Amino acid sequence: MAQQPRRALRVAIIGAGIGGLAAAVALRQGGFEVELFERSAKLEVGAGLQIGPNGVKVLRALGLEDELMRNAFEPFGIMSVTWDEGRLRFRQPLKEISRQRYGAPYLTAHRADLHNLLRRAVGDAPLHLGAHCIGAETVNGAAVARFADGSTAEADVVVGADGIRSAIRAQHFGEDHPRFTEMMAWRCIVPMDCVPTRIGPNGDVALPHGEYFGWIGPNGHVICYPIGVRGDRLNIFGGHVTTEWIEESWSVPSSREELIAAKAGWNAALLDMFRHVEHVYKWGIYDRDPLPHWTAGRVTLLGDAAHPTMPTLAQGANMAIEDGYVLARLLARHGDDVEAALNIYPAERKPRTDWVTLKSREQFANNRKALPPPFVDRTWLFVNDVVRETGALQPA
Ligand SMILES: Cc1cc2nc3c(=O)[nH]c(=O)nc-3n(C[C@H](O)[C@H](O)[C@H](O)COP(=O)(O)OP(=O)(O)OC[C@H]3O[C@@H](n4cnc5c(N)ncnc54)[C@H](O)[C@@H]3O)c2cc1C
Repeated sequence: MAQQPRRALRVAIIGAGIGGLAAAVALRQGGFEVELFERSAKLEVGAGLQIGPNGVKVLRALGLEDELMRNAFEPFGIMSVTWDEGRLRFRQPLKEISRQRYGAPYLTAHRADLHNLLRRAVGDAPLHLGAHCIGAETVNGAAVARFADGSTAEADVVVGADGIRSAIRAQHFGEDHPRFTEMMAWRCIVPMDCVPTRIGPNGDVALPHGEYFGWIGPNGHVICYPIGVRGDRLNIFGGHVTTEWIEESWSVPSSREELIAAKAGWNAALLDMFRHVEHVYKWGIYDRDPLPHWTAGRVTLLGDAAHPTMPTLAQGANMAIEDGYVLARLLARHGDDVEAALNIYPAERKPRTDWVTLKSREQFANNRKALPPPFVDRTWLFVNDVVRETGALQPA
């Protein structure tokens, strides 16, 4: 008699951010039953994200590269100018280097575009909005997530993809004590037709739209890259040294006036561009040590919940995407031995994510010491180091 097929393992994912959704796609492709639980009543958006060749390779393995290319932008170059006069510090190709050296493009995208793409790819897996998870544990060999409204959800595995302030991380691995770095950043977007096309003392530096560029100054830096399908908007990260405590949150509102006041004395063309920015948010940058463990029984962590990392190398979304792929692959490989898969998962991932966390910290310290230059130059080198390693991340 033919053997009854094993029932598909059920995975409950807490948090429908980039990491939770990417994991859901990978798990569904692996034949798992997936259910997502998201605290927000509507899916929140954010501003720009960078998707390195490592992240693109995972999305390629999930069959999403073509759609990604239709929803993201590929900057052709990267350049850096001085904060006051807008003089050129360096300029180098990005598109060619990334494709030739790393075998995949370096992309920029609006977080909402990547989020929507992943959400479509998740298909008809149940996604519960307004589901505020307050904990998850292993009970009689099952994984059970508990919610603020008193409800529970049972699965074979619970994945805490609940972001930088993960409730599941706090429950199993203790409250963390992030250190404020005395650096904050404004995040905002400006329409590309408000971006200057020439800067520099005599307008001698061309600023062709479609390039990634940074302004480096004495008390911070401004990183700009195009987003949107046609690169018709510019994403701005305005880093600023401050002793004023700023909350670690993606949704603390600020204003263009506050941004302009902080950058008083900077290049006039830059300040003029700031007069047109939309939806300004501010965000305090915090530092944490890598966690020693991610898995407790049938509950594990992924993305920012597992490895909150400073943004210096722009690898947060990429690491989260990689995590989901590796977790799905391990669960598929280990069949019913769920706990073995969940223990191997951090053992496989942590050397890489710890390295990124620590390199991000090191680079952050270098940046602070080295302001003014060199700045982007080194960041870029490290980003290259990060992506070079990902040759190891191949489809199973
Ligand atoms: C609103 C928002 C805007 C962002 N904007 C940017 C940006 O502009 N640029 C950038 O580089 N990065 C941004 N990020 C961060 C970036 O998306 C992540 O660092 C990265 O993609 C890692 O993804 P993640 O899935 O681990 O975490 P996140 O993308 O942060 O996703 C975590 C998800 O879990 C949900 N959640 C949290 N707690 C609970 C709970 N208790 N129960 C259920 N659900 C919960 C959150 O609402 C969120 O949807 C933003 C994140 C958020 C949440």
